Amino acid sequence: MNCDKCNEKFDPEEKREHLGQFLCEDCYMKVLSPVKTCDPWAVHSAKTFERYAGTIKEFTPLQANILDVLKKEGPLTPESLLKKYDESVDFEDLKREFASLRHMEKVRAAKQGSDVVWHLW
Ligand SMILES: [Zn+2]
Repeated sequence: MNCDKCNEKFDPEEKREHLGQFLCEDCYMKVLSPVKTCDPWAVHSAKTFERYAGTIKEFTPLQANILDVLKKEGPLTPESLLKKYDESVDFEDLKREFASLRHMEKVRAAKQGSDVVWHLW
């Protein structure tokens, strides 16, 4: 049989089904690999942590990340900051980390209209 993607002949024994297409093993690996590597946030966090860890050791990865996001995005409401984490972070944890950062005078909260926004010190 032929692969639905690259049209190469392959052994039916090896066939893989993906979203209704029959794919050879190569194509199957290719369609799956973006999913496996698609975790930009994890990569991003690791990099951010490394960067901060080099100079300021007391930050947790999440704290370093909060600083990084606020630096890039400017002031954010706690809710929009939380959304950046795609449910990988608990709101209570986020608030606790923010409180520690505030204690270190790295961030502060301010009123913006009726919203509270968090921003860098
Ligand atoms: Zn193929």
